[in-house]
Amino acid sequence: MSKNYAKETICVQSGWQPKNGEPRVLPIYQSTTFKYETSEQMGRLFDLEESGYFYTRLQNPTNDYVAQKICELEGGVAAMLTSSGQAANYYAVFNVAEAGDHVIMSSTVYGGTFNLLTVTMKKMGIECSVVDPDLPLETLKTYVKPNTKCVLGETIANPALVVLDIEKFATLAHDAGVPLIIDNTFATPINCNPIAFGADIVTHSTTKYMDGHAMCVGGCIVDSGNFDWMAHKEKFPGLTTPDESYHGIVYAEKFGRAAYLTKATVQLMRDLGSIQAPQNAFLLNVGLETLPLRMERHCYNAQKVAEFLEQNENVAWVNYPGLKSNKYYELGQKYLPKGSCGVISFGLKGGREGASKMMDYLELAAIVTHVADARTCVLHPASHTHRQMNDQQLLEAGVAPELIRLSVGIENVEDIIADLSQAIEKASK
Ligand SMILES: *Cc1c(COP(=O)(O)O)cnc(C)c1O
Repeated sequence: MSKNYAKETICVQSGWQPKNGEPRVLPIYQSTTFKYETSEQMGRLFDLEESGYFYTRLQNPTNDYVAQKICELEGGVAAMLTSSGQAANYYAVFNVAEAGDHVIMSSTVYGGTFNLLTVTMKKMGIECSVVDPDLPLETLKTYVKPNTKCVLGETIANPALVVLDIEKFATLAHDAGVPLIIDNTFATPINCNPIAFGADIVTHSTTKYMDGHAMCVGGCIVDSGNFDWMAHKEKFPGLTTPDESYHGIVYAEKFGRAAYLTKATVQLMRDLGSIQAPQNAFLLNVGLETLPLRMERHCYNAQKVAEFLEQNENVAWVNYPGLKSNKYYELGQKYLPKGSCGVISFGLKGGREGASKMMDYLELAAIVTHVADARTCVLHPASHTHRQMNDQQLLEAGVAPELIRLSVGIENVEDIIADLSQAIEKASK
């Protein structure tokens, strides 16, 4: 949008701007393909000489209006939707790193991202150094290699809830001449804009709070436009030398600040094809309209629940960045002044066994793999999402065997607390 609107306004009004006689609501462009008058015009699209739509695997208007909204919320210059958060992080890294390259990643990232980088992308020849995000900058710098191509972290780690010192990581990346990629899924652009703290690329699993209703798996990549690829020409030949698959286009020259995102679209989306279904993009857009309201309630409820748990005699520990006792309280105040997210982790005095017992007594909170939607839910990472990790990797990821991940929804907070209270009591007998 042209005016400098606040996020609440962007969430409702940005993206689709109907003209006379057009639908008020963003339409679903349920079409694989688009019509052109002349063969010449179509040819220009394939040469990237003109922008437009020709095939939904590369771009679809419904998706683009939604991506544009997220782009504005993050303060970027270009964005694209992907079929999942996994696809977003995969493309975000693969767009700058290839076989023989190296990346640096915070150890506390989401289990799926951890696996993607340390197992699957390793098979593709990309090496990953996993680092403790709390290490001092000077120590982190020792992990930089001549072939390092990017640094990766999460604003608030899922499920460790470690708040990343984004500025420290930005310095690490920029001193090495590489971009910082931040997965901002848990914070959402409502609670944090990583670009304002130096991130170059922001990724999202839109599956979580953005969708907000557990309806669609999806992802997004936002390009800040701030990284100067030409200043590091040798490191990023994919962006700074001719792409033969497009008659020798040099992305950084032709597309300026949108070079990274253009390359991701016309190369990675073209060849790997993880497009988001336009119907899912439509539903995501509905979710985005209420994101600020929901985030406010998620944070309010989670703070109350965290305070309740902290006082409960059967609870061994509670991890929520909004608690003054929390190790990341200060970083949270800096990067997430409006609140962190609705996710809390905690352990019962009953340990690993107590965790599974308690979960079976819950009546309102459901046991699901999902997090970060309107309904309160719980998960035991050691036996669910992170079960592919050994104990050492679990500890490095900040996930204790007894850790319960509680995703606080937007129900009435007294009802949520009452449910937890009875389940904890029964499990502790
Ligand atoms: C869920 C999640 C992902 C993966 O997203 P999917 O949409 O499930 O593919 C990536 N990063 C974070 C932080 C997540 O929470």
